[in-house]
Amino acid sequence: HLSKRLAVVASFVPQGARLADIGSDHAYLPAALALAGKIDQAVAGEVVAGPYQNMANEIQQSGLGGQVIPRLANGLAAIHPDDHIDTVVIAGMGGTLIADILERGQKQLAGVQRLILQPNVGEPRLRAWLQAHRYQIMAERLVKEDGHIYEIIVAEPSPVPFRYSDYELQFGPLLLEKKGPIFAEKWQDYIQRQIAVLKQIAAAKQPPVAKMEQLKAAIAIVKEALA
Ligand code: SAM
Repeated sequence: HLSKRLAVVASFVPQGARLADIGSDHAYLPAALALAGKIDQAVAGEVVAGPYQNMANEIQQSGLGGQVIPRLANGLAAIHPDDHIDTVVIAGMGGTLIADILERGQKQLAGVQRLILQPNVGEPRLRAWLQAHRYQIMAERLVKEDGHIYEIIVAEPSPVPFRYSDYELQFGPLLLEKKGPIFAEKWQDYIQRQIAVLKQIAAAKQPPVAKMEQLKAAIAIVKEALA
């Protein structure tokens, strides 16, 4: 049984995919997809020995050993050429770490048709990496779970160059088109946090004027997006 967040990630995995789940931890995602008959084969990559050993045991005990292959590896080094991986999931990490893993694994991305990414923070940095490497954003979702709002970004190699504005990099080009209640909640929360910081630094003996102007500008941009 997948969490709501992982269920939305799973919904973007194409039927019959050859999947690599990088940073798989318990391998919940590939195990659920294999049980549901949705994937052909999966590699579950994990860089930390403890979680790797646990998932290797769980996979063996569940009888999925033929379909889900655990690998102890850093990032996309978990993917071998004869795996013929076409779909990569990287979920539950910071956007900067995800971008870093993609950057260092470009060789392994050669035959990959779809990236399904779920950054916990740092989404603009990740979108900037996708744009710089010609991965076009095909879908974006916001999921609220246990009081957290998560972003899910689905990207595919683009034959043509394209350009996102700074505004689109910050909010998400497709999330901006739809907005909706979770979008509003996420960015209202952001505004409240920035206002709290602003109040705090305004109370200083010598308020840092430039920093305050920066915060006010950031808040204004978000207010405009919410208008
Ligand atoms: N993907 C699962 C999910 O979304 O529920 C687990 C997320 S868990 C918070 C992040 C996992 O990524 C941890 O198990 C961590 O050890 C692993 N990880 C972090 N950096 C990694 C890297 N460079 N390569 C592979 N795994 C990594």
